[in-house]
Amino acid sequence: MILPVFTYNHPVLRQKTERVSEITEDIVSLVESMFATMYNANGIGLAANQVGKGLALTVIDVSEMDDSPSSASPIVMINPVIESFSDEEEEFEEGCLSLPELRDIVVRPSAVQVRFLDTQLKEHHMETTGLLARVMQHEIDHLNGIYFFERLTPIRRTLAQSKLKRIAKGLVETEYEIV
Ligand code: ZN
Repeated sequence: MILPVFTYNHPVLRQKTERVSEITEDIVSLVESMFATMYNANGIGLAANQVGKGLALTVIDVSEMDDSPSSASPIVMINPVIESFSDEEEEFEEGCLSLPELRDIVVRPSAVQVRFLDTQLKEHHMETTGLLARVMQHEIDHLNGIYFFERLTPIRRTLAQSKLKRIAKGLVETEYEIV
C-alpha cells in the first residue's frame, strides 16, 4: 500500500525512533508499504518515521543509480547503528522525500561500518562506500530525528530556511502524496 509521506515539520520526524524487538505481521506489511511508497516517489531510501511510524526501520534501494555488486539492494535495515565512520569525507547533493524541492550539498564520511538486523532479526555487519554509504547515513539520521539540512554548512543552512518555510506551509508540489 502506498502511504503518504510525512514532511517537515511533523513531530514524528524530530523524534528518535523506537527499536523493533519482534517481527509482527504489522512490521512485515509496513516494510512492503515502505518499499511501495519509496518506489512510487522515485526515492532510493525511506525511513519508517517518514510514513509516520516511529520505529527504527529503513528501506533502501540504490540499484537504479548504482549497479555495482557492493550496492546490495534492495535492503531492509532494522535497528541500524553506524559503528564507525571513515576520516575521509566527500560532498554529494542530497534530496529527501520529506523535504520536497530542497536539494543541497552535504559533506559526510565517504565510508561507514553499519550494524543492523534483517527481517529475520539476523544481525549483519556491513562496510559500505559510495552511494549506499551516503543513503544509509541519511536514513539512519532520520531514525535519530535528524534532517539532512542540519548537516549543511552554516551559510547553506541559512539559505535553505525560506524553502523549509514553504515546505512547512505546504506550499510545495509533489507527484506523491504528502502530509
Ligand atoms: Zn530523507
